[in-house]
Amino acid sequence: MPNLPTTKTVALMCAVGVGAMSCGGPKPPPRPNVVLISIDTLRPDHLGCYGYRRNTSPEIDEIASSGALFEQHITSAPWTLPAHTAMFTSVPDSVHGVTSPIGKRLAEEFETLPESFQKAGYSTAGFFAGPYLHPAFGLGQGFDQYIDCVNTVPDEALDADNQWSMADPVLRASHHGITNEKVYDQWKTYFEKAGANAAGQDDEPFFAFVHLWDVHFDFEPPPPFDTMFDPDYTGPYTGRDFFTDPRINAGIPERDKQHIISLYDGEIRWTDGFIGKIRRDLESKGLWENTVVVITSDHGTELFDHGAKGHRTTLFDELIHIPLIVHFPRSVVGGKSYPQQTQMIDLGPTLRDLVGLPPVAITMGESLAPLLRGEVRTRASSPAISELYDVGRELRSLRTESAKLIHDSTAAQGKTWFDLTTDPDEKNPRNLRAIDRSRELDKQYVEAQTWILQGLQRRPAGPASADVPSEIHRSLQSMGYTGGEDEDQ
Ligand SMILES: [Zn+2]
Repeated sequence: MPNLPTTKTVALMCAVGVGAMSCGGPKPPPRPNVVLISIDTLRPDHLGCYGYRRNTSPEIDEIASSGALFEQHITSAPWTLPAHTAMFTSVPDSVHGVTSPIGKRLAEEFETLPESFQKAGYSTAGFFAGPYLHPAFGLGQGFDQYIDCVNTVPDEALDADNQWSMADPVLRASHHGITNEKVYDQWKTYFEKAGANAAGQDDEPFFAFVHLWDVHFDFEPPPPFDTMFDPDYTGPYTGRDFFTDPRINAGIPERDKQHIISLYDGEIRWTDGFIGKIRRDLESKGLWENTVVVITSDHGTELFDHGAKGHRTTLFDELIHIPLIVHFPRSVVGGKSYPQQTQMIDLGPTLRDLVGLPPVAITMGESLAPLLRGEVRTRASSPAISELYDVGRELRSLRTESAKLIHDSTAAQGKTWFDLTTDPDEKNPRNLRAIDRSRELDKQYVEAQTWILQGLQRRPAGPASADVPSEIHRSLQSMGYTGGEDEDQ
């Protein structure tokens, strides 16, 4: 039974005289559509609207200028699979349990974000371009259509059943080349029908999840974006095999590092153009005003900030600080920036609230909608929890607006902390001491552990044993994803 009345149930309610709905009066406004755009591996400090020096994001900046921008939005994990699972479930990683590609799959009993919209009678569709979004991990729950746009060998050469048991080069290819066009083409095909239905006389809204992968390494944007931000470079480095090529490391000359960063920026500018295309698609059918558009990411990436590269390695801000922009003219106050810290698990409750869907039973995030609607001026900022489990150790961080505690289960010192007010780049780890404010931070960390345990007690059983083929694990490991668990598990 849908949570909100569909056209058919409204007609039935009118026929039998149920409720106070005015059947003969003016039609209620159509329900809003939702377009949730996840730009994989996007650092907010490389976007114009977050203060970046380069013009990487004119389309995103324009949307942010009439929407809401969250300055300190923190993800649950520094890599794709658990972060997107938190995006869809609104619980921390250790509660949804999908913390590794090995033997993990989201329990079906979780009501995911797309499932909520599907139950409410929305058309739902997802378009993904990275291997960890594969439905084998349970992330296809709630999508009428969940379309694989991963860059592999041409689809016609593959037996669909064997797509994920191909040899390593296929999975490796998923990090090469470009996929934005493929994702956009699939969106466009879907939107032609779903958008027409949403714009028609019947109340048939849609929820679309658009996952854009090209900003993720490798950093090989197509022309002119490959030379846009560093046209004079003549050195030996390219963005190909950024993560797996050992010659690309923090020891290379600064000039070469800057070139690689300019390629990352080129990928952002290339991807930004597709955000503009989606906007114009919505405008073309008169749906821009009545669509909640979210632009966010799953995690950032290290560009030698702490002497390394890539992600799934640490919990420093270059990996866990992500953008969040919400555009919805019908009820979101436009052109505002929110300095309060927010976190990944807040997104689901916020979207349900903005659209008028009821909350789900198992959620640990908090709706930002009262803030967005201007109903409250401030929001108590709760600490953000981020976790990383499968690098052969266990990392967990608690971040407030002014400090971060990192607990490394395998490090001798265990817990360290950073004063983000004086050390925003997290270069000076401090030991916990009884006499300074780190003691309060540690107290909050202990409370957060209790909060997670309470979440674990409320969660459904599982996750069920994954049916992810071992070939996926081997291929991902061959690309440099060093899982800490035995692949036979
Ligand atoms: Zn990712």
